[in-house]
Amino acid sequence: MATLSLRNLKKAYGPVEVIKGINLDIVDREFVVFVGPSGCGKSTLLRMIAGLEEITSGELMIDEKRVNEVGPADRGLAMVFQSYALYPHMTVAQNMGFALRLAKVPKTERDAKVAEAARILQLGPYLERKPKDLSGGQRQRVAIGRAIVRDPKVFLFDEPLSNLDAALRGQMRIELSRLHDDLNATMIYVTHDQIEAMTMADKIVVLQAGRIEQVGSPLELYHNPANLFVAGFIGSPRMNMLPVTVSGIGPGSVEVALPSGARVLLPADTGGLHDGLALTLGIRPEALRLDPAGQITGEVMLVERLGGLTLLHVGAEGRDDLIVQIEGSSPVEMHQHVQLAVEYTGCHLFGADGLTIQKQALQTAAA
Ligand code: ADP
Ligand code: MG
Repeated sequence: MATLSLRNLKKAYGPVEVIKGINLDIVDREFVVFVGPSGCGKSTLLRMIAGLEEITSGELMIDEKRVNEVGPADRGLAMVFQSYALYPHMTVAQNMGFALRLAKVPKTERDAKVAEAARILQLGPYLERKPKDLSGGQRQRVAIGRAIVRDPKVFLFDEPLSNLDAALRGQMRIELSRLHDDLNATMIYVTHDQIEAMTMADKIVVLQAGRIEQVGSPLELYHNPANLFVAGFIGSPRMNMLPVTVSGIGPGSVEVALPSGARVLLPADTGGLHDGLALTLGIRPEALRLDPAGQITGEVMLVERLGGLTLLHVGAEGRDDLIVQIEGSSPVEMHQHVQLAVEYTGCHLFGADGLTIQKQALQTAAA
């Protein structure tokens, strides 16, 4: 059992506030990912939870008990870092059992725990090897094994896959998801990589400059981003952003004019909108498709053929990199002139304040 509650957590280094009031609840067995650009405060927040950084103000609760003043060793957490920090002179088994030896756990119990961790992580054949004789992925698994043997209430990971190559990162993502399922533990995972967040998280916490931008499941964030930042950060390839102006308002819908004058009709909560208002239109790459009747005219500047997908970089609407994602292999060639149609379901409108304009008026609770 492990739930965490972060209540207006703040961290300042001297006059500089780097964590600016985080409120968050993490439920038992949840896989929570903190994601955001480099320097946004992810590691600092994780280290505050671990007890490695003092909390300037606010409260950290684990299982409903305040732990601000509890030392790192007594919080029931285990942390896995990007740098594996294995002891080079110890074998895999000794590395994994070291914390237990320090804690004076009897040898038979220690060996059993190491053997169980090795089984879960498929490290059995490597127990007598030294770290230098392991691949990067195996070393990272040993670092995770060191955490597993301690049987923590919560696992904390700080960018554990950053030192691995792309293929191995993909494989380790799957292994970590499987591990979460096997161990039934609460996990908090920090990364700057939105793909890791999308593929592993039950709940994603998007951070920017020490604040939470949005909390939600991967698909909630993808389909209902709260603001421009989340819309641009989540999703690969990125959402296309175009400056538009309101050109007409109907019941529950708005028509916007693109830079070329082309019009797009969208469902929207029209309260607060008026003709001529400047907005930003976000269009997911898969919401643009080739269509001779489409309202956007452009020239293909680059084609990326990925086999199952084709990405077109189109010069249109004052941009040279409007990204169009097409299923399968498209015969389209570079410099071809194309017409694009816009699927409204993959469109999002943002006000000048960067906040999403809702697709429909929010229901007011019935009295
Ligand atoms: P992230 O892990 O998201 O890349 P960090 O949590 O490491 O970001 O850092 C967040 C911010 O806090 C950064 O601007 C960083 O420069 C600042 N910071 C981190 N540690 C210290 C420190 N010991 N003293 C002053 N500023 C720090
Ligand atoms: Mg960091």
